[in-house]
Amino acid sequence: MGAREAADVARLLIESGERLRADGAAQVGGAFTFVPEADDLLRERPEAFLIGVLFTQGIPAERAWLAPYLLRQRLGHLDVRRLAAERDSVAEAVVRPPALHRFKHTLGGWVSDAASRLMEQWEGDASRLWAGGSSVREVTERLTAFSGIGRKKAAMAVEILTRHFGVRLVEMESGTVAYDTHVRRVFLRSGLVERDTYDEIVAAAARACPAAPGTLDLPSWLVGRQWCHPSCPECDACLLHEVCPRLTHLRVEGVGARRTVAGPRTPDARKTPPASVE
Ligand code: SF4
Repeated sequence: MGAREAADVARLLIESGERLRADGAAQVGGAFTFVPEADDLLRERPEAFLIGVLFTQGIPAERAWLAPYLLRQRLGHLDVRRLAAERDSVAEAVVRPPALHRFKHTLGGWVSDAASRLMEQWEGDASRLWAGGSSVREVTERLTAFSGIGRKKAAMAVEILTRHFGVRLVEMESGTVAYDTHVRRVFLRSGLVERDTYDEIVAAAARACPAAPGTLDLPSWLVGRQWCHPSCPECDACLLHEVCPRLTHLRVEGVGARRTVAGPRTPDARKTPPASVE
């Protein structure tokens, strides 16, 4: 694939990203979940957003973002001090059927660890993590200091904070895309990268949009989730259909990757996988 084709792919993704930013899109289109009260909680309570970030792993995005709301329902509160002190209650609330996460024995601990860290270092106020004027690098480092938040979740969180919540961070050029299975698949199949490695994808995002590489995060994720399925991608309907080389035989592998099978698209074979944040 030539530089011109890659530039065309990048241009469409950036244009889409800028529209999403202008719309203040949350992760799943215009909202986080299908429950308005759950979305309100994420918007009104920074600690709820932080807890949602912890849950965005290996389950559908809507379910992950719903978790803080359900956790509050089960506990009767979302008080940071109590989340830190009452570990057994938090763990039980996460595990109780139906469990709030497939890694049900891990998430409760992460929530209490996060609350403890907030109490000890951030005066119990998660919004201090992303105080206006902080740099993208600073916020990323603060987030990745939490158990259960790695580079991928931090990159996603930074993008949501700036795009949806309007948090003003500086040095956006040091942001990047989340190394997520949807993003990786789209970068690979559209020819933005030749190999599915963290370094190549980060470098490609920076090349495509030097001023704010993270701009490519949500549009790539949505393309991967909506059209570029692991099997039977819907190229003709895809946002990138006019410019993408359609390297549909390529697959992502490793943690978070689903089995990807290249082959002809047939109505019988078409299965839309459940959307997930991986
Ligand atoms: S669905 Fe097809 S056109 Fe769209 S990114 Fe994937 S391979 Fe390219």
